Amino acid sequence: MDARHAILFEPVAIGPKTLPNRFYQVPHASGFGSARPRTQAAFRGIKAEGGWGGVCVEYAPVSRDSDEIPAVAADIWDDRDARALGLSAEAIHAHGALAGLELYHGGWSSPNGGSRAVRVAPSQLTSGVQWGGLAKQMDAGDIARLQRDWVRAARRAVDVGFDIVYVYGAHGYLMTQFMSAHENRRTDGYGGSLANRGRFWMETLAAVREEVGGECAVATRIAVHGDSGVPGAETLPGIHADEMLTLVKMADDLVDLWDVTVGSWPEDSGTSRYYPEGHERPWADRVREATAKPVVAVGRYTSPDLMAEVIRSGAVDVIGSARQAIADPFLPRKVAEGRLDEIRECTGSNVCILREETFHHVGCIQNATAGEEYRRGWHPESVPATADPGRAVLVVGAGPAGMECAVVLGKRGFGAVHLVDAEPEIGGRLRWTRRLPTLGDWGRIIDWRAIQLAKLPGVEVITGRRLAAADILDYGADLVVIATGSAWRGDGVQPGHPDPMPGADPALPHVLTPEQVCAGERPPGRRVVVYDTDGYYVAPGMAELLAAEGFVVTVVTTFPVLSPVSDETLEGDMLRAHLHRAGVAVQHATTITGIGAGSVTGHDRDGEPWSAGCDGIVLVTQQVSRDDLYTELAGDPAGLAAAGIRGLYRIGDALAPRLISEAIFDGHRLAREIDAEDPSQPALYLRELAEPR
Ligand code: ADP
Repeated sequence: MDARHAILFEPVAIGPKTLPNRFYQVPHASGFGSARPRTQAAFRGIKAEGGWGGVCVEYAPVSRDSDEIPAVAADIWDDRDARALGLSAEAIHAHGALAGLELYHGGWSSPNGGSRAVRVAPSQLTSGVQWGGLAKQMDAGDIARLQRDWVRAARRAVDVGFDIVYVYGAHGYLMTQFMSAHENRRTDGYGGSLANRGRFWMETLAAVREEVGGECAVATRIAVHGDSGVPGAETLPGIHADEMLTLVKMADDLVDLWDVTVGSWPEDSGTSRYYPEGHERPWADRVREATAKPVVAVGRYTSPDLMAEVIRSGAVDVIGSARQAIADPFLPRKVAEGRLDEIRECTGSNVCILREETFHHVGCIQNATAGEEYRRGWHPESVPATADPGRAVLVVGAGPAGMECAVVLGKRGFGAVHLVDAEPEIGGRLRWTRRLPTLGDWGRIIDWRAIQLAKLPGVEVITGRRLAAADILDYGADLVVIATGSAWRGDGVQPGHPDPMPGADPALPHVLTPEQVCAGERPPGRRVVVYDTDGYYVAPGMAELLAAEGFVVTVVTTFPVLSPVSDETLEGDMLRAHLHRAGVAVQHATTITGIGAGSVTGHDRDGEPWSAGCDGIVLVTQQVSRDDLYTELAGDPAGLAAAGIRGLYRIGDALAPRLISEAIFDGHRLAREIDAEDPSQPALYLRELAEPR
């Protein structure tokens, strides 16, 4: 270990427990809850195995009136739930880490979609969309009942082995609703003054402490007001940093560990596009003014140097992490063993959150094994050795799919893996994506793989070589993996319009695809329309790039908001504010159906004709698989047999254009399963089904 990182491995006492080091996986949603306890346990246990000294499960509702369906939470309503969650505590303990459970109540934000329970809140106020109806204003009986539920949940948690239990006081949930003067309009002892607004939280902390205080650490998560300057990104109106710090002082005797977050979720889980590593520091550091108890704070930390500096500063005692712990569960061990170049750095893309928010199985753009520990038996650091290392494998295309596939094949011990790309550098679509404004950190996907590829003795990377079908037949490979990716269409085919758009011809100087723009082509005049039917990062990236060069840019989008996918990655508000400041105009809910010389025409959402003058258009409509190589080879079984090619497979966008995370998953999956009977089809995975009676 490098001496400068030694401080990260010093133990720290939290109440009656001792954290073995300063690496702490903070509570974060996984979608596994208590319903898929083995999946949950394996997902958390792997982080303990990788060296995180504290590992928490996700938010754990204490009552049926905090039911998160359609989302999944770690309900701890009864002993059965607790036993299910206890599997996680066991898996975490197996590697010497402390296990934490974030006891929680959502108040008015809980949908109660399954339980049909009435929502509860300090006051009956509308807060955003209320199609599901308003909450009941909690009476004294509700307050006592919820505190009882919290204490019982804490008892259950400790009885099944948890070392840290939370009284969750952040992110706009029930405790924060009480603390906020904006949300809490009560006139009894639980509303009005700051002491009154903090009473419910403090009484709950005291009751939990009385029940389990000697046996486990009592933690609380708070949100300190940030300053993103973006509407909607601040903490609930009504709790300012100074008030929160007063509350910290008032509750300090009741707390063993302060888990500090900043602002609302989009700010707290800020992406690399808009927030640098450690952006919360100035706010989180202020908590030190109010407490001498241990403080854990997040900051999308990926650099062990910065982590050590933060601890050395004394403001924070423990490095909190959700996303980096997903991207590389083994970061602490790699730091301890000085294997810094093996750390798979989080890109800060929030694809993990996008998947969770859209109710998909958890996933990570960098770590294809995240969430697959139980159901597919995948380990982030080890892969099974291949039964037949003598086979030569040719991977054509070094985009995300091809790079990942070659890394895993190399680790499995294949003696001759050739990764060949037509371009002068590896990376595929990421080569240009990482050069778009704000997207530089996504380049970490290439960087990590480039470093690993260089270390693998069996893998050779060959760039600047475009292979035709005949070259592949002549190559001498036993197995061929086609990872040739996709291209953006220049013909204007778009959702709902399967035929080419009149005037859309990328051979014309005023019609461009994103790849052409990134290759340096520019429209002939200053006024540019970026047409977006894709909804994610490419159109905003094009717009910002061109605006920075002085073009007058309008994004025309079929969606009612610009880049709706960015709302799922928590970037939407920031992205829109950012482009607004860059001078980019937006025309919403509009479809372009024709491109002329000097104008584009189409219709608005009501079908009314619409047109605009412009000197050029960038079409961000749809991608198309580059699958001609695969199709030609697959159509020649005799040629394949004669060439001795025993397997021909297709991965990534060449199969179907998708998110980068899915291309990486494809490449990883094929490399692990390439010895199976039919590697083109994913093997069936374990599902936690109820036993038949
Ligand atoms: P994915 O995301 O599926 O990995 P990308 O589009 O990012 O796909 O990358 C595909 C890569 O394949 C590109 O770098 C491209 O240069 C390369 N490629 C495409 N066709 C050929 C070919 N015939 N020979 C070599 N490389 C190719």
